Amino acid sequence: MGLVQSIYARCSRPHTNDMSAPTLSTPTLPTKDNFVANHLEAIEHCDICREPFDQEHIATRIRGPNQCQHIFGSTCLQQWMDSDSPHANSCPKCREVLFKAVPRPTFMPGVRPGAEALYLEHITRLDHAWLFVNSLREITSRYARTLPVIYDSDLEDIVSDALVEIAKKYLEDTGHSLLVGMDTLLTLREVAREMMMSPLEDRYTIPSGDRVINAEWFSRVAGVLGWNLQ
Ligand SMILES: [Zn+2]
Ligand SMILES: [Zn+2]
Repeated sequence: MGLVQSIYARCSRPHTNDMSAPTLSTPTLPTKDNFVANHLEAIEHCDICREPFDQEHIATRIRGPNQCQHIFGSTCLQQWMDSDSPHANSCPKCREVLFKAVPRPTFMPGVRPGAEALYLEHITRLDHAWLFVNSLREITSRYARTLPVIYDSDLEDIVSDALVEIAKKYLEDTGHSLLVGMDTLLTLREVAREMMMSPLEDRYTIPSGDRVINAEWFSRVAGVLGWNLQ
């Protein structure tokens, strides 16, 4: 078969049942020398911090659900996945999405009057309200135990962490994402500050299922948010 006929045979293959015809899909393979020179890559440093790997910063290969095989230092990768980045659930290099994003609350300039119960301020379910107060109280005590000095930005982190807890539950139960007004964030920052100053042992508690709810803090938070609970 001459060259022209051969090309014709290749091009027409999808329309024939002639399985012996050569295929077009085989990629051109490099020679061994070319492969060794251009297709092997020693991974010496982490692409996130550019530092070499070591016993703590362990070279870790992602095995993404699709193609990603990128390698990063374990500590850097962990930090990335725990970060607030909207891409924290994807590979830092190729952005392949690796796992479901954790629902986070969305902060809005203010509460829309008459909006549906999407805002933290408009929560009506007691269990959602209790979950939030409990998370806020628990996270506040955790920070109080570990940080020697607390800055306003720490207080914002505390409130955001507590809001993530309730945003997850809220989405699960109602299918809605949780919105939080910026004013509310500032108000809750002050509540978190007060919580931090108050003794960790609570005097008044209400039993609720297998949990104990702090009555004082519950009514304090419910009051500042204006919750109208059912
Ligand atoms: Zn690194
Ligand atoms: Zn990747």
